Amino acid sequence: MYGKIQQHLQNELNAIREAGLFKSERIIVSPQNAEITLNTGQTVLNFCANNYLGLSDNPQLIEAAKKALDSHGFGMSSVRFICGTQDLHKTLEKKVAEFFGTEDTILYAAAFDANGGVFEPLFGEEDAIISDALNHASIIDGVRLSKAKRYRYANADMEDLEKQLIEAQAQRFRIIVTDGVFSMDGNVAPMDKIVALAEKYDALVMVDECHSAGVVGQTGRGVTELFDIRGKVDIITGTLGKAFGGAIGGFTTGKKEIIELLRQRSRPYLFSNSLPPVVVAAGIRMFEMMDETNELQDKLHTNTAYFMEKMLAAGFDIKPTQSAICAVMLYDAPLSQKMAARLLDEGIYVIGFYYPVVPKGQARIRVQLSAAHEREHLDKAIAAFTKVGRELGVIK
Ligand SMILES: *Cc1c(COP(=O)(O)O)cnc(C)c1O
Repeated sequence: MYGKIQQHLQNELNAIREAGLFKSERIIVSPQNAEITLNTGQTVLNFCANNYLGLSDNPQLIEAAKKALDSHGFGMSSVRFICGTQDLHKTLEKKVAEFFGTEDTILYAAAFDANGGVFEPLFGEEDAIISDALNHASIIDGVRLSKAKRYRYANADMEDLEKQLIEAQAQRFRIIVTDGVFSMDGNVAPMDKIVALAEKYDALVMVDECHSAGVVGQTGRGVTELFDIRGKVDIITGTLGKAFGGAIGGFTTGKKEIIELLRQRSRPYLFSNSLPPVVVAAGIRMFEMMDETNELQDKLHTNTAYFMEKMLAAGFDIKPTQSAICAVMLYDAPLSQKMAARLLDEGIYVIGFYYPVVPKGQARIRVQLSAAHEREHLDKAIAAFTKVGRELGVIK
């Protein structure tokens, strides 16, 4: 039986390879940090992790995780509503709500699950979901799982959003859904305008803060802080897998009735295992750290501004950013791959992205800044970009 499909799968794999789209994985043998060691023995500076606050290898989080291993054990072997809820889970949910200034929080195994499980319980055939065209795959999948009518607007295009809102007036409830920060350009969703349109056209607002939580806004409270719209966003989803320690875990936080209904009906919550205590305890410690000091946000913002300024001065074409993502535009796909490879030779680990991950003719290298980067790391990266950029004719 396998024989027939095996040939088919082999053909698919070959087609992916021939299209130059085959993704291979580099193997890291050190913890995730600003400096990492690859299995080739090469030590490189890491500019492609979502480790925005440098917490992936943070001693305080490791300590909290070790303690929880002793006090609360290793695994939960249960979903939350049977016997998978510890005091730790309730504490972390409260911490998330305090951080975002929301009413209640529900934890998931990942933000992919939070987004996958948020729409179907809340919206039915008579409702409308109005989604940004560049929203994350998990939002797209989550929307597909609901029976609501779907509307799509061009990325951050408020004229188009208004058009869709007008069309969606016939529906019972409407919700506008957007990423807070779009991961390929680093642009922030225009939340002030989105909230204003939501008020005008009677819609709820949901924002996915995966790339913005911990990063955007003066104290890292995300887009609701940046635009001063706390309390005006009904649903926030986010991850513990990026700025917030980088391990695993997702959450939905917002209005209490919404969260309560999700606990009753959200399928990835009801039918998937609880987060392990080590992860939850480290998460609690992480939110305590966020309350104690703003040092990491300050350092990240300083690093991003410094990197942007020097790279623009060197002549690179970089998309405007309000996040920790800098898209160094090259436009040409093979050039993006060549440049990333040359940068790795120079000890700088970055990834070149091209179609279909970004639009045709929009190839780029995405640089992700971190509070773990020291000034010397940034200078080394800028020097390497400048050297390789000149060599490849990207800059003069
Ligand atoms: C990374 C990401 C997710 C998925 O987060 P996980 O916790 O890793 O599942 C969802 N949405 C956006 C916008 C993301 O960037």
